[in-house]
Amino acid sequence: MYDWFQTWTNDVFQAAHGNNGSLNTVLSSIGHYSIDAGGDYLGQLAAHLLGQQKYDVTFNPFAAPFRTNGDDLPICMQPRTGVLVNTLYHEGRHAYQASLATLANDEDQDGLVNVIQIAPTFFFQDSKDPRAVCNPLDPDVVQINWQFLGPGNFDAFGAPAANQQGLGHVDWALEMDAYVFAAAPPR
Ligand SMILES: [Zn+2]
Repeated sequence: MYDWFQTWTNDVFQAAHGNNGSLNTVLSSIGHYSIDAGGDYLGQLAAHLLGQQKYDVTFNPFAAPFRTNGDDLPICMQPRTGVLVNTLYHEGRHAYQASLATLANDEDQDGLVNVIQIAPTFFFQDSKDPRAVCNPLDPDVVQINWQFLGPGNFDAFGAPAANQQGLGHVDWALEMDAYVFAAAPPR
């Protein structure tokens, strides 16, 4: 039923593999993918254990723009042309983000890391430097200026609990990074 999807994703992976550069490194963080036609999403990481080498990703090719690889509305002010390929890049970037969060590169295990090798290199870096983040689920919010606690201080993934410090929402930094990467992937 989803042969066309397999063919299409295969083409994307093959093209990335052929260029053997940064894009291939990012997409290689996807170890396995599966299909779920029921969810209200285009793609998502199956689990979020930090610091693994490979991640499972689920795609929902039922969504209309997916079927034609058409364009979809910008999110976080980032264009989404060719939304099937864009989503592959986006989810591949999420897998890459999580793979960087090893104990050596993310001592406080909050998903913000010390070193990001493949650009963009600052959205989910663990520092106090202000940066743009965004909430992709809020249609009214585009980009927000945000500040994390820096290395050695845990930042919450979502909204911080009552006993937690900081602004939280590491997830918004990860989303911003993934949308920016997918809009202009390395070649
Ligand atoms: Zn995402």
